[in-house]
Amino acid sequence: MQRSLVFALMFAGLAGRAHAQADWDGPQAPFALFGNSYYVGTAGLSSVLITSPQGHILIDGAGPQAPAAIAEHIRALGFKVEDIQYILNSHPHFDHAGGIAALQKMSGATVLASARAEQVLRTGRTSPGDPQLGILTTPLAAVARTRAVADGEVVRVGPLAVTAHYTPGHTEGGTSWTWQSTEGATTAHMVYADSLTAYADRTFRYGGDPRYPRARADLERSIATVAALPCDILVTAHPEAGDLWQRKARQPARGNAAFIDRQACRTYAEQARQRLAAVLAEEAAQAGKAAQEPSR
Ligand SMILES: [Zn+2]
Repeated sequence: MQRSLVFALMFAGLAGRAHAQADWDGPQAPFALFGNSYYVGTAGLSSVLITSPQGHILIDGAGPQAPAAIAEHIRALGFKVEDIQYILNSHPHFDHAGGIAALQKMSGATVLASARAEQVLRTGRTSPGDPQLGILTTPLAAVARTRAVADGEVVRVGPLAVTAHYTPGHTEGGTSWTWQSTEGATTAHMVYADSLTAYADRTFRYGGDPRYPRARADLERSIATVAALPCDILVTAHPEAGDLWQRKARQPARGNAAFIDRQACRTYAEQARQRLAAVLAEEAAQAGKAAQEPSR
């Protein structure tokens, strides 16, 4: 009972910042972020297209209902889905990777992810060490044409160069991606940051779980990694977690410069650090209570 209360409180904490799950697939007109980078995701799940005359790179495929909308967004911007050379993934949960199998089929692209995430995408089987194993009920369609990238590897298409930064902890295979986009005289450091949320099912312990013993250490390191990235424009896998919509509201007045916020990565990382601390404190409190209960 205690556990379910904790879980409800954790979920309420998340929902306070996030749209409800029902809005994840909501309509969202595509829009320019900066230079050759565009938001093509849904109202609640990010997908970013980086374009070049030699081909495009797409980051994340949102949920299983999203591929038709994402493809429509890409076409509405004047680009061809068939010109996507690579699809990159932040982490292999259904809300960011559920649409990738269909988008891969439409485009013929190669799908790139960290070594751990590539395994999940290729097989469609959630890792036994996934902190949300017990609550991931939406199956992930197995993805064709996958390849693992190394930490720090640069993915290139024509003039495009997107760097992989392993950011495990929310999952074992989490990856954030960085590149540069130029508009007028300004070159912006772009960051697509993976989820850094300590969020688990009722049985998983971030403070030490044999199924993923490094969860806490990984997440702490990933939070530090994202905080230290050169970061002018942040897009997070869940767009509202990086305040994308507040910045977009200023776009009509300020143009695409409205998306520049050089504190954004540090703010995002700090929120993740505070949440991890709260989750660890709650786990410790629960463990203390359990120890006091009389044994039978
Ligand atoms: Zn997730």
